[in-house]
Amino acid sequence: MAPMTRPHRAGSPVWRLVLLALLAAALLATGCATQNTVVNPVTGRVERSALSEDQLQAQADEAREALIDEHGLYTHPEVQAYVTEIGLKVARLSHAPELPWSFTILDTEISNAFALPHGQVFVTRGLLALLQNEAELAAVLGHEIAHVTARHGAHRATEAAFANIGVAAAINVGQFLERRGLRGAAQRMKRLGMSLAAGLIATYDRQQELEADRIGTDYLARAGYDARQMVAVLEVLQMVERFHADRAREQKREAPGSDWLSSHPGTDQRLREAQRFTAAARRVASDGRERFLKRIDGLVWGDSPEKGLVRDRLFVHPRVGYAVSAPAGWEFDVEGSAVALHTPDNDATLTVRLLPKLAGRTHAQVIENLLAPTEGRSAPRKVGAFNGTHFIGSRLRGDTRHPLRATVVTGPGSRLYLIDYTARDEAAMERALAAMQAAEQSFRAITAADRRAAQVWRIGSTVMPVGGFAELARASPLREDADATLRLINGLYGLKPGEGEPAAGELVKTVR
Ligand SMILES: [Zn+2]
Repeated sequence: MAPMTRPHRAGSPVWRLVLLALLAAALLATGCATQNTVVNPVTGRVERSALSEDQLQAQADEAREALIDEHGLYTHPEVQAYVTEIGLKVARLSHAPELPWSFTILDTEISNAFALPHGQVFVTRGLLALLQNEAELAAVLGHEIAHVTARHGAHRATEAAFANIGVAAAINVGQFLERRGLRGAAQRMKRLGMSLAAGLIATYDRQQELEADRIGTDYLARAGYDARQMVAVLEVLQMVERFHADRAREQKREAPGSDWLSSHPGTDQRLREAQRFTAAARRVASDGRERFLKRIDGLVWGDSPEKGLVRDRLFVHPRVGYAVSAPAGWEFDVEGSAVALHTPDNDATLTVRLLPKLAGRTHAQVIENLLAPTEGRSAPRKVGAFNGTHFIGSRLRGDTRHPLRATVVTGPGSRLYLIDYTARDEAAMERALAAMQAAEQSFRAITAADRRAAQVWRIGSTVMPVGGFAELARASPLREDADATLRLINGLYGLKPGEGEPAAGELVKTVR
């Protein structure tokens, strides 16, 4: 049976009475046992929980901080207001309208959405950029809202506690579109993988994902949207997967995050299921496409000025105030106020990092505090226009000698930076050294030319030109994969030429 035909309405007085009665019954039944019980708003059944609701809230708040630390908040008042508006519209029609719902946009190009117990929902700007209309946005949020109302996070925490994994390790982040974003995101996913391993972010199982799809579809229909848009969102997920797999193949890289993806519920199965339970859905004339495109206009695409922008061989960090150029063929990985430049084989890395005041006031103090050498020597070195100190030496830990090679620079704004040379082995260091030194010498305060080259890319909409995607690509600032990227953000990546392609004059998304 299609779930959208459920007879009960969340929030109705009868429903609340039933809920109260069940809660009272649960309290009586457990007496003074230490276990907590709570009524599942979706099933109406009493569930035991290892955590009190206050403990669950405290954990959710901790997880929220971890998520914001990892990705940053995306501050764009119009887009934020829109996501909140649609989120609340769906949440208020859910099984738990009374929760303190919040909808937060994370500043990352990775496409994902998360939910924490008690109504904290997160969506990344990378995912927003890939959606085609308001109904798809409602579908994503509806799925996450369903994780909350069905208490999937609470179940995870309880399982972990009962299995003695440790309650603190059972933070309950649901992942909807757990897929790699654009360039640089592979490393970020690896880090996310590490937090997963550490148990910081638990994921939902297949059954819970399917349930969230089903309940989310119900919410979508209650809010007056076309329930089949849940299927459309799952197709977006597949398309993104294909896009990244194709890019990886072209660049002869290993397919992105394969371990991590394989540990997750298959999109194919979810798609098949969703197609089944939306087959009888009522058609809705408007999917809110024009409204959606208008409201997300200006959304950042790709790198953010907050974290620094990579443009070809150039890295510019507008917020911190420096720029550096990479040798041809090298790759960047951006992290906080630091950037790492990797050789094409990823066997040597030059990292440029703005240092906190704690690291030391002088070059010598920084070397002592951060490198902690056992032996070595320092020599003055000019880095572009700045004064620096280059250190070569080693650190002994037990029987192991770690080679050290780094430059401390008094850079833009008279702040201290560390330029750190690392390599897999001495041979790799030898091979990369000259290129690393050249990259070090390119370290500079942002110039007018850097500023021009590092314009922020934003999602906009326009009418399809006569020349189709090829013409749209030429007009956009995108360089690499421009045609494929424009197809992806329009939900048309991987289709046969001409298939579903918008006619000239139709409204399409673009990057400007
Ligand atoms: Zn999910």
